[in-house]
Amino acid sequence: MVEDEPISALIAAKALSDNFITHHVSSGQEALDFCDQKLPDIILMDINMPVMDGLTACRKLKDNDNTQEIPIIFVSSHNSPEAEDECWEAGCTDFITKPFSVTTLRHRVNSHLAAKLMSDKLKRLATVDGLTDVQNRHYFDGFLADQMKLCTRLKHHIGLILIDIDNFKLYNDTYGHIKGDECLRQVASTLRTVLKRPTDCLARYGGEEFAVVLPHTDARGVEHIANSMLSAIRALNLPHKLSSLSRVTISAGGICVSPQNLSQIALIQKADQNLYSAKDAGRDQFVVA
Ligand code: GH3
Ligand code: MG
Ligand code: MG
Ligand code: MG
Repeated sequence: MVEDEPISALIAAKALSDNFITHHVSSGQEALDFCDQKLPDIILMDINMPVMDGLTACRKLKDNDNTQEIPIIFVSSHNSPEAEDECWEAGCTDFITKPFSVTTLRHRVNSHLAAKLMSDKLKRLATVDGLTDVQNRHYFDGFLADQMKLCTRLKHHIGLILIDIDNFKLYNDTYGHIKGDECLRQVASTLRTVLKRPTDCLARYGGEEFAVVLPHTDARGVEHIANSMLSAIRALNLPHKLSSLSRVTISAGGICVSPQNLSQIALIQKADQNLYSAKDAGRDQFVVA
């Protein structure tokens, strides 16, 4: 709630207090500062305020990738068609005139929040693998393309590791597909614990294969991550009684390049070749070259 008049803020806060946690700030600038720390689900915005008015704050929030999806409802006594036009042009989601009906405020907030939560959910479903909860193939393809461009521009290295669970067909044949799915989930969440940098990405590449993108990482770093992932899966110690290694293991093929003049397909092929070398050499090992 961005509002310089304490009484108006109090009335709105009281109207919403049964269902929501509200925070109150008194200017557009304070709203931007607040959003730097914590993203609200929805913003109620006054227009006339000292330091920075609501329209300016709304434009700035809509210009920023981190905040542009937050619905903004203007709550203002400016009720001319021109004033409303200005609010729409600034990118608002809705408009309520003061003095407002408490019931209308509640209903508007509820319906815009329901729409926001649904769109958040759909966005998540589009980028996250439903079984393992790591990023999906669609996300991986876009992420790798973007990071290759960025690393080319910065003249940084980028690492890619392809990971494949060893003898996984045999695992399904031994324990059944439900246990197989559970194994995939455990492997995925264990692999995720190895990654520490916010720019690293773990995705399910296909069936029992995972891919790790390591932007701004040199060959030693890629080897370190591959090695740590193999160790983490060994330590997970999931029984696989018919496998020669008697527990679930993975093989990994990694590559580290400075991506100038290299296509995404060529990068994946190189990692894939290394994965096959690791398989040929007996599984439960990695090749990074
Ligand atoms: P290798 O050590 O050479 O990788 O042998 P593998 O048996 O792991 O490889 P293969 O490609 O022959 O078999 C992969 C198996 O992964 C086949 C399929 O049953 C299983 N699989 C793929 N996706 C899923 C899934 O979503 N759930 C389950 N339970 N199994 C899956
Ligand atoms: Mg005001
Ligand atoms: Mg495979
Ligand atoms: Mg396999």
